[in-house]
Amino acid sequence: MHELSIALGIVNIAENETKKANAKKVEKIELEIGTLAGIAFDSLDFIWPSAVKNTVLEGAIKRIHIIEGEAKCGDCHHIFKLKKMYDSCPKCNSYLKGIIKGKELRIKYLEVS
Ligand SMILES: [Zn+2]
Repeated sequence: MHELSIALGIVNIAENETKKANAKKVEKIELEIGTLAGIAFDSLDFIWPSAVKNTVLEGAIKRIHIIEGEAKCGDCHHIFKLKKMYDSCPKCNSYLKGIIKGKELRIKYLEVS
């Protein structure tokens, strides 16, 4: 499952950061995930407990900040909310666009103890 490898990647980073800080475990982790990052939030929540079991992240509070997709039209320069990657510009119908937000997948905050 795609989300499992993402969760394990997060675990990996958290393990490294915790080690660097000479800490034992993570108290709190905040993630920033864009709606265009291709991640199913439900699946991520579902596999999270088993992915973090016996790691520094076990028992940590997890919070996900969802970042709505946003794009700028390449033709009329209109900035619009992008729900799906292949949506066209609502103003001029152009498919030429630059993604401004929504592809994020990062750890925003990590609190260790
Ligand atoms: Zn446009």
